[in-house]
Amino acid sequence: TGVPVSLIKGVLNVKSLTLFHFFPDKLNLYGDRGNILTLKKRCEWREISLNVVPINKIDQASDVPLSQADILFIGGGSDREQALCTEELKKIKDSFKSAVEDGTPCLAVCGGYQFLGNYYQMLSGEKLEGLSIVDFYTISKENRLVGDVLMESETFGKLVGFENHAGQTFHPYETLGTVIKGYGNNKKDKKEGLVYKHLIGTYLHGPVLPKNPSIADFLIGNALDRKYGQAKLADLDDSWEHEAAEKVWSRYA
Ligand code: GLN
Repeated sequence: TGVPVSLIKGVLNVKSLTLFHFFPDKLNLYGDRGNILTLKKRCEWREISLNVVPINKIDQASDVPLSQADILFIGGGSDREQALCTEELKKIKDSFKSAVEDGTPCLAVCGGYQFLGNYYQMLSGEKLEGLSIVDFYTISKENRLVGDVLMESETFGKLVGFENHAGQTFHPYETLGTVIKGYGNNKKDKKEGLVYKHLIGTYLHGPVLPKNPSIADFLIGNALDRKYGQAKLADLDDSWEHEAAEKVWSRYA
């Protein structure tokens, strides 16, 4: 009679993380949803359950209990879609900033990345207010920056992705890496993305995480560490991902 001890231990050992996915119905360009699938799979392979909470509508700040989130994700969108989300995101400006300051891992891609700053100026000249989590701005320019991106990152190694944005971002923070092919943040700096605490902003679609598992594990590892005080992640076999990245590098670099 009774439940076997091993089973009880197994149940108690299961770690679980909660991810808030902002506006999956609007901010979902170029396969950004694949980032969620990657996080889910990489957690599952390590027997961690990842509970994904879609946030499609924000009537008031209390609709989004950010203190319950272990990972935050915002994808990219067209200017039209971004404009639709601005008013709602504004309502959680303070709690979003507190969550990032408190070390909650966050990935923000392209339009989502632009939302992290003070404002995003569209081609029309109209400015969309940002979350002001980090002190920067983004301005749209006539010629879009489009194509494959190769970059080198001290923390994450060789990274690959795809960019398509009119906005050019300027900031003084640590970047994700140095651009070898493509543009990244803007046409001048040859730098891509932003890293602040456990927040990563990037222009890389593709989606970014299946192609660059080191970034996925940065998010998962820091989320686990923050929640359970244990960051050691079991290694996974990423040889396919590395092989694919090497192929792209050998073609361009
Ligand atoms: N609308 C933004 C721009 O064009 C972001 C586009 C995107 O998310 N790919 O700069």
